[in-house]
Amino acid sequence: MTPQETKKLFKALGLKSRMDGASYGGDWFASSGDWLEVHSPTSGDLLAKIQQAGEADYAKLMEKADQAFRHWRAIPAPKRGEIVRNIGVALRAKKGELGRLVSLEMGKILTEGLGEVQEMIDVCDFAVGLSRTLSGPTLQSERPMHRMMEQWHPLGPVGVITAFNFPVAVWAWNSALAFVCGDPVVWKPSSKTPLCAIATHNIVTAVLRANGVPEGVSSVVVGRGSNIGERMLGDARLPLISATGSTKMGKRIGQVVGARLGRTILELGGNNALIISDKADMAGALAAAFFGAVGTAGQRCTSTRRLIIHEKMFETFIAKMIANYKSVKIGDPLDPKTLMGPLIDEEAVSDFEAALTAARQQGGKVLYGGKVLNPPFGRRTFVLPTIVEIANDAPIVQTETFAPILYVMRYRTIDEAIVMHNSVPQGLSSGIFSDSVAEAEAFVSFRGSDCGIANINVGTSGAEIGGAFGGEKETGGGRESGSDSWKAYMRRQTNTVNWGGEIHLAQGVEFHV
Ligand code: NAD
Repeated sequence: MTPQETKKLFKALGLKSRMDGASYGGDWFASSGDWLEVHSPTSGDLLAKIQQAGEADYAKLMEKADQAFRHWRAIPAPKRGEIVRNIGVALRAKKGELGRLVSLEMGKILTEGLGEVQEMIDVCDFAVGLSRTLSGPTLQSERPMHRMMEQWHPLGPVGVITAFNFPVAVWAWNSALAFVCGDPVVWKPSSKTPLCAIATHNIVTAVLRANGVPEGVSSVVVGRGSNIGERMLGDARLPLISATGSTKMGKRIGQVVGARLGRTILELGGNNALIISDKADMAGALAAAFFGAVGTAGQRCTSTRRLIIHEKMFETFIAKMIANYKSVKIGDPLDPKTLMGPLIDEEAVSDFEAALTAARQQGGKVLYGGKVLNPPFGRRTFVLPTIVEIANDAPIVQTETFAPILYVMRYRTIDEAIVMHNSVPQGLSSGIFSDSVAEAEAFVSFRGSDCGIANINVGTSGAEIGGAFGGEKETGGGRESGSDSWKAYMRRQTNTVNWGGEIHLAQGVEFHV
């Protein structure tokens, strides 16, 4: 993107080259004197400088969020839904610009940048419907002329902490639901992608203002995880912390929020595998494995990290994968011909190199790739997508490296494949390619995949917003977005109503003088 194009894009999204990083309404403020430089992962160009929020800024912002809750929770849920509908309309109008910003700042290719904004739009639509159906059951009481029911009430301001790799969608997964549930949102985005957060907030704030929503319902606080992030974890005014990021970060959040008995939704790292059976449709399996491993330069929580291939298919399948890998155009994510953009920064490239060194030491054989590319644009962030044949129990295979490295291995029986599949600490996304009903059903049965997401003839990467999203084991156990995950954003209350007048104690207990 030329400097003129960047300037035009910034103008369309209300961004400037120097900005403050905190807002609970239209205006931005910060007083820490701690400036964050935001560079393009593609060119290395300095895109902007953001003054991060400090302690005083956080205090001001949280006070507003706390006050806003008292107002917001009193607005009927369908009216809150109408406002979320308008946020979806505003996002539709800005989809092109916001999608381009995602590509510019995070480095995913444009079609994926646009797809991420589409996810925001879709989840707004989902939440609008939800706003009229947030419901609890009516239950039969054992006492005569009594009724029992469950109600769901707004919970309070929700702290949303997001990772760099979905710099706008994860905010929407949380916020569209939180808003219809009656909760304000305090968003701490990744320090690697603050511009996407500021631009999103500008779009959302315009809608909230136009609808007379008080300041504090939607806030953004750009700040260090070790400072502002930690401050949020310990803040009892945030009854729920929804955090997306690495397992290391999630373990810390789980401990600190757990110590105050706060709630968490933890969406952490994955180590996703695809089983390719000898009874699979090869073309479908190839397309799914290719996108899963190379798409988003391997920087999705659901990226395919392991392929467990039937020994009869292994050589043919890998040969086809390598042919695909050879034709991947790597470069500027905003060029429509590009299939793979950069990694987020040089540190990610070092992680890529370190993982490959470890893999080689642990008996791995690089079948394709394994190289850092000479910088085509000025930043050492481009790598070749890589395939390594290695044993599933090699220590490096047991960890998530956030880069396009695919570990491949062979199996003989489906039972053996499932054991290999589950023998990692993480449990996010999984898939099997097989036309055998018995194999496919076994994979999604109680003795099959232990992941939060288990697909048949569908890859591991990417998910629709309608299903609950999240994973088990070290992925954190949280569920965001679809299905009934709205329940995490509300507090449940059981009510017993006596309409008969006589007092009856439960379980037939008698207590008279
Ligand atoms: P990260 O863990 O480095 O950072 C994530 C967020 O946590 C950032 O906003 C960071 O500032 C914040 N943070 C870090 N330490 C904190 C602390 N002590 N207190 C409060 N906040 C703190 O992750 P990343 O590199 O940005 O993202 C990549 C990781 O995210 C991968 O592991 C990926 O699998 C995971 N991820 C998971 C999902 C999912 O839904 N399961 C989705 C996207 C990304």
